[in-house]
Amino acid sequence: MFVSRYKQKLKSLAGGVLARSGLFGPALGEKAVILGFHRVNDENEDELTYGVASFQQVCTFAKEHFHVVPLDEIVSRLERGRSVKGLLAITFDDGYEDNYTNAAPVLEQLGLPATFFVVSGFIETEHVTWWDKSMPSAPKWMSWEQVNDLHARGFSIGGHTSTHVDLGRVRGDEAKLEIQRCREELMEKVPCHVDMFAYPYGQPDNLLEENRRVIARSGYRACVSCYGGTVSPGEDPFRLQRVPISNWFASANQFALEVALGRA
Ligand SMILES: [Zn+2]
Repeated sequence: MFVSRYKQKLKSLAGGVLARSGLFGPALGEKAVILGFHRVNDENEDELTYGVASFQQVCTFAKEHFHVVPLDEIVSRLERGRSVKGLLAITFDDGYEDNYTNAAPVLEQLGLPATFFVVSGFIETEHVTWWDKSMPSAPKWMSWEQVNDLHARGFSIGGHTSTHVDLGRVRGDEAKLEIQRCREELMEKVPCHVDMFAYPYGQPDNLLEENRRVIARSGYRACVSCYGGTVSPGEDPFRLQRVPISNWFASANQFALEVALGRA
C-alpha cells in the first residue's frame, strides 16, 4: 500500500511537471483522448466512482490542456480523415443519477460538452446490477426527465444496450434487440438523435465481431470500448478506445502522465 501510494505521488509530481512544462501536447502527438467515467460522487469508494472534487480537477485539467469537444466531433473528423490532434471528449457509462446531480453542473460551469451512454432499460427503475449488489445502498439511475434535461442543456445521449448484456457472449437476435431497442427507446423517450454506442463492460472480450457489425448497421456511427487509451488519426470509429477514469488515478497530474506515456 505504502509503495503504491508513494509511486502515485511520484507519478503525480512528474505529471505536474509535464503539464506545466508544455511538453504534454507533444507527448500525445497526433492523438485524441476519450475519457470514460461511471459514477461521480463522494459517498461511494470503489473503482467505478470518482470523487466530485477530483472530477472537477480532471475537467479543469482537460480544459487547460485540450480542446474539449463532443465525442461526435472526434468521430466526424475520423470519418473525414481529418486531424484529431489535441481533442478530448468526456463520456459516462450506464446512466447513474449522480451524472445528472454531480457531474453535469461541473461540466456546465466549465462549459464542457459530454456524452452520456445510457442503459435504456435501467432508466427510472430500481434495478440493482450484479456489480452494485454489495453496496450499502444501491446507487440510483436517472429518470427520463433527467435524461431529457441533459439533452435539453446541450449534452449528448448515447446507447449502452437496453439491459447491459455482455456482447462478447450474447449473439444473434438477442444481441440485435439489445443494440437496436436501446437506440429506439432513447430516440423515442428523449427525443434525441442517438448515433454513438459504448459496449457494456468495455474490455477486449466483451464484443463479438458479429455484434460490432450489428452496431454499425443499426444507425450508430461509432462504438467505444472502456480500455485501451488514446485515439490515433485514421482510426476506425467502430474501434475507439477510451481512458477509463476511476479512483485509481490519484490526481489529474497522474492522469496526465499516464496518458502521455500511453499507459492509461
Ligand atoms: Zn456499463
